[in-house]
Amino acid sequence: LYNQVQDLKGNIRVYCRVRPFLPGQPNRASTVDHIEEGNITIIAPSKYSKEGRKSFTFNKVFGPSATQGEVFSDTRPLIRSVLDGFNVCIFAYGQTGSGKTHTMSGPPELTEEGLGVNYRALGDLFLLSEQRKDTVCYDISVQMLEIYNEQVRDLLVTDEIRNSSQNGINVPDANLVPVSSTSDVITLMNLGQKNRAVGATAMNDRSSRSHSCLTVHVQGKDLTSGSILRGCMHLVDLAGSERVEKSEATGDRLKEAQHINRSLSALGDVIFSLAQKNSHVPYRNSKLTQLLQDSLGGQAKTLMFVHISPEPEGVGETISTLKFAERVSTI
Ligand code: ADP
Ligand code: MG
Repeated sequence: LYNQVQDLKGNIRVYCRVRPFLPGQPNRASTVDHIEEGNITIIAPSKYSKEGRKSFTFNKVFGPSATQGEVFSDTRPLIRSVLDGFNVCIFAYGQTGSGKTHTMSGPPELTEEGLGVNYRALGDLFLLSEQRKDTVCYDISVQMLEIYNEQVRDLLVTDEIRNSSQNGINVPDANLVPVSSTSDVITLMNLGQKNRAVGATAMNDRSSRSHSCLTVHVQGKDLTSGSILRGCMHLVDLAGSERVEKSEATGDRLKEAQHINRSLSALGDVIFSLAQKNSHVPYRNSKLTQLLQDSLGGQAKTLMFVHISPEPEGVGETISTLKFAERVSTI
């Protein structure tokens, strides 16, 4: 079983991905000094490091030239375990503009090579369930939620957006849509994106200030024994992790920033507690961790993609991202 392979590697994995410089930007030196297997060394001004360099170690580091396919290939075994009845969470963490949406969904103009983890993961689920169809009958369905200012919103509604009450909708109430092909998924993701934009109103780019969560439910019925197994996978594009100066933000912007800081810290605390095998895991400190509680810890598997930008002027955020990632890593 795939699970055995996974157990050898542990249930929490952290991969780092470095975004390339964007086309049209002037040529500059990257803040990344070098990458060697799971190690990444950053050029850090004296303010951050006396030696001028800082190194971090993760399960894997993807450099700026890594393709979507290469990034996904190491995620594959995790996807397979969902069909064996395991729960999986995959997170994209990093400051706004570091490549989270690129990893999870892909570039704005989607091509086959550009397809991100979301599409590839579902593609694999369809393929594997087809291969096993003589022994297990699988049903696959998806939900798409957004968490903004600690309110949960269903993104898969076709009529009007169901606005959450004070505490947000109950997840069981959120639309659960059966899917059977990658094109079904693309259609749904487009609907989700559209609904997300509707909520944006005057504030543009709300997407960088909310968490979006694509949840895939898999139910398999063993055709011989009739027994049922259930697995679940959450694919989460997190809100931008950049710190907002108190002096810069006021009103709504400050409130958003506080919600984001709090929920990302809560997520970090939960994964840290799990990595340390602490007996108390503080799930209740945010909507996000409450929502994912059943898929974090126990037999469940967690993968965090941490994203960093290569621009030297962003080195402060890059270092704080890498520190967050190192704290939740079990390496
Ligand atoms: P985030 O979701 O973290 O705010 P995006 O995924 O939107 O960041 O990435 C910011 C920009 O960089 C986008 O134009 C995106 O297409 C581009 N980009 C991000 N990662 C890569 C990559 N690995 N290769 C090429 N372009 C990338
Ligand atoms: Mg994004």
